[in-house]
Amino acid sequence: MPKTPITLNSPLTVLPGIGQAVSEKLNKRHIYSVGDFLFLLPYKYQDRTAITPIADLIYGESAQVLVTVQSARVQYGRQRSLVIECRDNSGLLTIRLFHFSKAQMNLFKPDTRVLVYGQAVEGQGRWAMMHPEMKVLKSTEKVILSDKLTPVYPSTLGVGSVKISKWAGIALDCLEKETLQDFTDDFLQQHRLSPLKNALKAIHQPQVGQRESDILNPENPHLKRVVLDELLAKQIGMLRKKSQAQLADAFTLRIDNALQSRLLKQLPFTLTDAQQRVIGEIFDDVTLSKPMHRLVQGDVGSGKTLVAFSAVLQAIANGLQAVIMAPTEILSEQHYRQAEKLLSSLNIHAVWLSGKTTAKKRRELLAEIADGTAQVVIGTHALFQEEVVYHRLGLAVIDEQHRFGVHQRLLLKEKAENTGKTPHLLVMTATPIPRTLAMSYYADLDTSVIDELPPNRKPIETVLLADNRRTELIERIKALVMTGQQVYWVCPLIEESDMLQAQAAEDVYQQLADALPALNIALLHGRQKSDEKAQIIADFQANNIHLLVSTTVIEVGVDVPNATLMVIENAERFGLAQLHQLRGRVGRGSEKSFCVLLFQQPLSQTARQRLQVIRNSQDGFEIAKEDLKIRGAGEILGTKQTGEMSLRIADLERDSELLEMAFNLAQQLMTDNSAMADELIARWVGNAEEYLDV
Ligand code: ADP
Ligand code: MG
Repeated sequence: MPKTPITLNSPLTVLPGIGQAVSEKLNKRHIYSVGDFLFLLPYKYQDRTAITPIADLIYGESAQVLVTVQSARVQYGRQRSLVIECRDNSGLLTIRLFHFSKAQMNLFKPDTRVLVYGQAVEGQGRWAMMHPEMKVLKSTEKVILSDKLTPVYPSTLGVGSVKISKWAGIALDCLEKETLQDFTDDFLQQHRLSPLKNALKAIHQPQVGQRESDILNPENPHLKRVVLDELLAKQIGMLRKKSQAQLADAFTLRIDNALQSRLLKQLPFTLTDAQQRVIGEIFDDVTLSKPMHRLVQGDVGSGKTLVAFSAVLQAIANGLQAVIMAPTEILSEQHYRQAEKLLSSLNIHAVWLSGKTTAKKRRELLAEIADGTAQVVIGTHALFQEEVVYHRLGLAVIDEQHRFGVHQRLLLKEKAENTGKTPHLLVMTATPIPRTLAMSYYADLDTSVIDELPPNRKPIETVLLADNRRTELIERIKALVMTGQQVYWVCPLIEESDMLQAQAAEDVYQQLADALPALNIALLHGRQKSDEKAQIIADFQANNIHLLVSTTVIEVGVDVPNATLMVIENAERFGLAQLHQLRGRVGRGSEKSFCVLLFQQPLSQTARQRLQVIRNSQDGFEIAKEDLKIRGAGEILGTKQTGEMSLRIADLERDSELLEMAFNLAQQLMTDNSAMADELIARWVGNAEEYLDV
């Protein structure tokens, strides 16, 4: 029987090596047919075309070396590792494996030849590689070098790169006989883009002699074409999602200006122009019958809380309930305290759903929420738990969070199902979102920026201080506390473990308590019970604590204007955005504030540069831009850990011009050529909604 030829539409199982199980695994990643492999792209290339002598390795760069094993032993330290000492004619190389099997331990006998590919780093004065790829050669085996670069596909698929490359090759063969929707030749020429077909082939299959820098060169017409395709698909998806969301029905509010004035009259200050403008934008939104979907960005201390309360007030004035969701208990309690202060005098009943609420009290609160007595409900994500039933939920404020995905939005909608309407949504963040990110990830949101700090804020003076000058610093703290001011001391970030982090904070706490016996010092970390944490914050707020030693749990939102000094230990280990957030805890009162960035010596050149960015700038946007350069979008969006980078080949920093182009082109394409718009979505997004869920 003749075999049916494979086409781009064929199911995955026609491909060699794909059975039911692998097919299902790939489906989960939105790969359903042979053609989908065309748009699953390598994100880098390995150069296995040559063997590099150890002496020619370049720090931080990957290379292939051919070595002879001298010794292999297990080293016991903080973490067990297998250390393989090797050499070639030009030098020595240490290979270190932290995860290894018994079989591997016996594999690396002296004089074994091993072909190694990995990133060169330095370890104890000689070259080293951690977990490189290795091939042990038989005694007479010849090394076969490839003549082209090897594409590397994302490992998140759970399928090896070599296989994906092969399947992509089959898809490319099919492509020869089929057509893809593409731009006109004129357009392609004008913008120096290759036709999509050629471009895909060029990206998947490097030619002999090509280097990675040639392919990933932002001027490469092949790369440009594929990147544009992806960015366009993303834009179009966003625009469609936005127009879909606007079809939903929401409560149309009438603005009660008298009530708003009563709120503001209680304040010892007037709103900034920026606060007023943003409140105006929100009021304009909620007076429409489609749900508000607005992101408010405002640097730390810009006064987002009042903006939120203004929206909350209007929901209540219209007989609706509002929720305020904070990322932590500490923050939610602060909001609750503020609400009690500002709203109870307006006869508005706010409740706080906290982890420390007793079961009895909780039942009471749930009843109040269900019958509408509770007008404002404040808490963490527990607000969306199943047992919380709302009477007439009309507005949700999500504080200090810039990602509120489709899933959470659905939850929110469910909570208001009984009303037949979709609640208005206000998301607030102090994480400045650079323009490129805003255009690509938040295109379905309306954004407002509070681009002004309240007046009379004294700038925070930031200093870099080597760790060996702690004693001086401690003296300084003593003097500062004498004047009635308070201090935060933030402990080193230990990403690997909550427990280690708590321990480190404990150590610092002990040390400071010994050095400053006359001071009230408290310790705050993530492993404490939530009521314990809340008590400590309350004590700090009441100035019963002079010095608060803390982990990064105080990163967002905590507002204690009397605290004027923040010490950040091992500042070189933090991200820039995080340092900025932390620093924002001071400089909230009328006294001049300081931030001391303690660092361990020696400080590398880049680390020093990064800390200088923080020292020299207090502009969250500028810092975020630097941060984006240093860390990339994945980390800023928090998608890196999950490996769920939502862009496959485009790089927002490198491709910002193409992003601009996609941004401008998307709407036009949807109107003028909806067939191509549809195909773009199908190529990159499939019918996978969550691909756009950011
Ligand atoms: P964030 O934007 O970081 O959430 P907050 O809303 O917590 O900032 O406000 C920070 C501090 O500034 C609070 O103490 C608040 O009362 C105060 N504040 C807010 N708006 C103004 C204003 N217009 N003038 C003076 N102080 C203000
Ligand atoms: Mg805040």
